[in-house]
Amino acid sequence: MSPRKDALAEGWLDVSVPLRDGMPAWPGNPPVEIGRHEDMSKGGDANVTALSLGAHTGTHVDAPVHFLADGVAIEAMDLQPWGKPG
Ligand SMILES: [Zn+2]
Repeated sequence: MSPRKDALAEGWLDVSVPLRDGMPAWPGNPPVEIGRHEDMSKGGDANVTALSLGAHTGTHVDAPVHFLADGVAIEAMDLQPWGKPG
């Protein structure tokens, strides 16, 4: 079973919103653009997907620094509260 299916079987709820091209973005934030940058069916050496979006798209966590000038940045936050107790 996949890790996601294992988590769901244990009672976790998946509230994530899949990212998709053109999905709603917060007003004033960059639009969500997902598409092929390079395509093997069009002569490309590989299939390469390009993503362009604001960090406040879909399911995400806003660190305190998002609203507080002296707030904590996401990389400085403790991850323990966000994950499965271990
Ligand atoms: Zn946000």
